[in-house]
Amino acid sequence: MYRTHTCGELRLSHKGEQVTLAGWVQKGRGLGGMTFIDLRDRYGITQLAFNEEWDADLVKDARKVGREYVIQVTGEVIERASKNSKIATGEVELKVNSLKVLNASKLPPFTIEDETDGGEELRMKYRYLDLRRNPLKENLMLRHRFAIESRKYLDEQGFLEVETPFLIKSTPEGARDFVVPSRSHEGEFYALPQSPQTFKQLLMVSGYDRYFQIVRCFRDEDLRADRQPEFTQVDCEMTFVEREDILQIFEGLAKHLYKKIKGIDLPDFPRMQYDDAMRLYGSDKPDIRFGMEFVELNDLAQNKGFKVFDAAELVVAINAPGCASYSRKDIDKLTDWMKRPQIGAKGMVWVKYNEDGTIKSAVDKFYSEEDLKAWLDKCDAKPGDMLLVLSGGVNTTRKQMNELRLEMGTRLGLRKQGEYAPLWVVDFPLLEWDEDSQRYHAMHHPFTSPIAADMELMDTDPGKVKANAYDMVVNGVELGGGSIRIHDRQLQKKMFEVLGFTDEEAQKQFGFLMNAFEYGAPPHGGIAFGFDRLVAVSAGQESIRDFIAFPKNNAGRDMMIDTPSLISDEQLHELHLKVEQNEE
Ligand code: ASP
Repeated sequence: MYRTHTCGELRLSHKGEQVTLAGWVQKGRGLGGMTFIDLRDRYGITQLAFNEEWDADLVKDARKVGREYVIQVTGEVIERASKNSKIATGEVELKVNSLKVLNASKLPPFTIEDETDGGEELRMKYRYLDLRRNPLKENLMLRHRFAIESRKYLDEQGFLEVETPFLIKSTPEGARDFVVPSRSHEGEFYALPQSPQTFKQLLMVSGYDRYFQIVRCFRDEDLRADRQPEFTQVDCEMTFVEREDILQIFEGLAKHLYKKIKGIDLPDFPRMQYDDAMRLYGSDKPDIRFGMEFVELNDLAQNKGFKVFDAAELVVAINAPGCASYSRKDIDKLTDWMKRPQIGAKGMVWVKYNEDGTIKSAVDKFYSEEDLKAWLDKCDAKPGDMLLVLSGGVNTTRKQMNELRLEMGTRLGLRKQGEYAPLWVVDFPLLEWDEDSQRYHAMHHPFTSPIAADMELMDTDPGKVKANAYDMVVNGVELGGGSIRIHDRQLQKKMFEVLGFTDEEAQKQFGFLMNAFEYGAPPHGGIAFGFDRLVAVSAGQESIRDFIAFPKNNAGRDMMIDTPSLISDEQLHELHLKVEQNEE
């Protein structure tokens, strides 16, 4: 037997017992004739004690083991003289009477501690060492809990876990496919799924009623910070449901997960129209942990001689509570921050409502105190507050104001760690006009149903049609999204038409789905959650990378196994990707 206990297990109640432990040497330290070693495994750390008075040879052996050596020790559990309340085993130590080195270790390239000295790249290259650190270990344990509890909840709700294939044909969901060349079919390719969308819909046609899968998805997107080319979804689909049924079930899932794993009761999720989210927060994923909603000032601020505002499509303000104390320099800095190319504001107007009731603004030349007071009132400002006003085209101004609102929320400590503000955003537009290709794109995906009331508009004004689609948002992060689907062949055909597909193209790419719709397709709908993000957000973190055991870096590379990489000429030939060299 390698061990009788783990390194996280021993307590005072084990005092006097002979035990055997195995694990990694976290660190050792000598103290006169004594040596201590912290022995670590997944479960915790136990202190090993060696004393020249007990056994001088053993102390020598103990001093020879380096960091990350794998050792096995046997000894007696004794009470510690100086206890360590920070660790669960901190009341005891092991009076070692035999030590065996199971494997030596090179000196690790960075310290295996909670705060490591290793840079990002080094840690990615030696991911297996990084994974030994507590923060990563805890993340993966949390992830495991989310997976287990998701399965439990969905199983209880009658969902069936079904696997769908990875070698498929491309489904256009907005991103590029990763493709896999076929060896046996020259010139032909499989694609890795961006999601199991069409398969889960087919499972509904097959009568499976409630499906789920915790599944890997692949998207060859331009790399942005915190995007992974492969990521995991909790993918779900249901039959004979309306939007409300789906929102209920999956609000239930989120509540279940937070309750079971974090002991937190999530509040009921408010529902917000997409249009309102854009108008009040400039974002389809608003962080509603705090208010600071947008207030449109066109009616009050235009036609008073200030050309910048007069020429603008939108004049919009937020009220920053308590910020009248900002100095000129503070405001200049904030303005510069807004003018950075990432945000691209041309300028920013401020109006201070001083504590003494006086009003001061950047645009005093154009507006009377009475004018400005009307702005302040509309924004519900109190003495001590400051309005920040942006203007320009509707979409760009809203985007910029969203950034400003989030920044002010952060500065004012309103985006509190440990507070969770979930909501559903509903009634997204069905289509999005793409200037480059001069055609509509599906905002969600082409299988999303228009809302019933807008069905007529599909022929006359498709750009106005709302989708029966919804997103779950927590703390400004989209955790999942889905829709009620089209289940009627004619409507699906119409949708492809609107998206600019010819009949042949639609038939070639999606014939299998449209044909299936002719064999008794039931009404259905579903949702998919970004599983990596779901876990990261619950831990209050923005980056998903450290919630994935073996992620890719920002450039889409796996630094540890060093891929993407070249393949041999022989493989290229076999896959018909390389023309014979001596071929004319
Ligand atoms: N397949 C969709 C996605 O990956 C989610 C859904 O509509 O269920 O975003």
